Amino acid sequence: MTTEIITVNQYFNYLAEKKLMGSHCPKCNTIDLPPRRLCSKCLSESQWKELSGKGELKTFTAVYVGAKVMTDKGYGRKTPYVFAVVQMEEGPSISGQLVGIEETNPDTYHIGMKVEVTYLKTETGKDKEGNSVYRWDVGFQPRS
Ligand SMILES: [Zn+2]
Repeated sequence: MTTEIITVNQYFNYLAEKKLMGSHCPKCNTIDLPPRRLCSKCLSESQWKELSGKGELKTFTAVYVGAKVMTDKGYGRKTPYVFAVVQMEEGPSISGQLVGIEETNPDTYHIGMKVEVTYLKTETGKDKEGNSVYRWDVGFQPRS
């Protein structure tokens, strides 16, 4: 745990370091994910807490007509992606893309399946020197 102030920017910096960081309320023990500076339950100041990255598939949908960022990656009507809500072992739920499955074969994933976080990288543009700039998102993959 660290006393560093919770910001959205720092949350994404942690994702780039492949750390799933939520927030923990020292007063009522609530864990929020994505992290919140103020506890969602009692509004006390929360602190960073690294989560295990392990959870269970709570619900999902296969997306055949996706956002541009996804169609740019090659997803579409014949190549859907699966968007999932996962309940983390620590309590909170978070959404993200489910990978490591056969998207068009529903026998390869199901509600209650054990999953773990994976970190998905998307190029969002170039910096002044022409180097690629990336954004990191939470995704999930099956675990045994
Ligand atoms: Zn609280």
